[in-house]
Amino acid sequence: MESDQRTSDIAQPSKRLLTGKVAVITGGARGIGAATAKAFAKNGANVVIADILDEPGEELAAAIGGQYVHCDVSLERDVERAIQAAVGWKGRLDIMFNNAGISGPEGSITSLKMEQLGALLEINLNGVVHGIKHAARAMIEGRIAGTIICSSSSAAMMGGLASHAYTLSKAAILGLARSSACELGVHGIRVNCVSPHGVPSEMLTSAYRRFLGDQNLQPQDVSKIVGEKGSLLRGRGGSVEDVAEAMVFLASDNAGFITGHNLVIDGGFTCCSSEMS
Ligand code: NAD
Repeated sequence: MESDQRTSDIAQPSKRLLTGKVAVITGGARGIGAATAKAFAKNGANVVIADILDEPGEELAAAIGGQYVHCDVSLERDVERAIQAAVGWKGRLDIMFNNAGISGPEGSITSLKMEQLGALLEINLNGVVHGIKHAARAMIEGRIAGTIICSSSSAAMMGGLASHAYTLSKAAILGLARSSACELGVHGIRVNCVSPHGVPSEMLTSAYRRFLGDQNLQPQDVSKIVGEKGSLLRGRGGSVEDVAEAMVFLASDNAGFITGHNLVIDGGFTCCSSEMS
C-alpha cells in the first residue's frame, strides 16, 4: 500500500511541494533570489520578497501573488520587519532564505582596506545573522518546524575564486549555519546552506566583466565560459533555475531529515578543480 502510494506520487511530477508554506527571500528581486521566488510560488508557497531594489521587487511580487518589503539586510530592524510582514500576512513563517549578498573588493590581501571588509560583512554576514535570528524567533514563537537556508558559495570551499572579503563572509556563513542547526534542531527547525558556483546572475556577470576587462560581456557569454571551464558537465553552465529547483527541494518536507548540510550546486566544479585549469 505504502509503495503504491509512493509510485503514484512519482507519477505526478506537477505535485506542488510547498503548498501553503510562507517564505521570506532576501535579495529576491533579481538573480537566484528572483528565480527561487518564482519556483516557490509555482510550488504553492506564499512569498515575501525582501530587497533594496523596490521596482523589480514590487513587480515580481505582484506577478507571483506575493508581497514586497523594502529591506536592507545590513539593518537588523529591516530584516525583523520583513519577517513580521510575512507573519502579519499569513500568520506564520515556514521558510527563510538568507540569499542577499554582494561581491567584494578584489585585489591583494596586502592592500585590503578594513573599512571595505567591514562594509561587505555588514551585508553578507550580518544580514544572515539577522535573518537566522529573527526567523528562528518567529518559528519558535509560532511553534513552526520551519527551515532556514543561507547562501554560501563555492568560494567558501576553495581559495582564489573570489575576493578575500567575499570568501571570508561565505565561509563564516557555513559555520554559522552549522552552529544554528545544532541549536535549533530541538525545535524541529532545519538550517542548511546552498553553495552555488558559476551562475550567470548580474553579480557574476559584472565580476567577469571586471576580470576579463570586457564591459560588453552578457550572462550567456558567462554561461558559455562556465560550461567550458567551470563545470564537469562540459558545455553546460549553471543557471539561476538550477539553484531555484534545488532550493524547492531543500525547503520542502521531502528534505525533512536534512539539516546542518551544505548543498553544493556547481556542476561538480569544487570536486575536481584541477581538471579545469
Ligand atoms: P544578484 O546580484 O543578481 O542578486 C543579489 C540580490 O541581493 C539583488 O536582488 C540585490 O538587490 C540584493 N541585495 C544586495 N544587497 C542587499 C542588501 N543590503 N539588502 C537586501 N538585498 C540586497 O546575485 P546572485 O548571484 O543572484 O546572488 C544571490 C546570492 O547567491 C548571493 O548571496 C551570492 O553571494 C550567492 N552566490 C552566487 C553565485 C553565482 O554564481 N551567481 C555563486 C555563489 C554564491
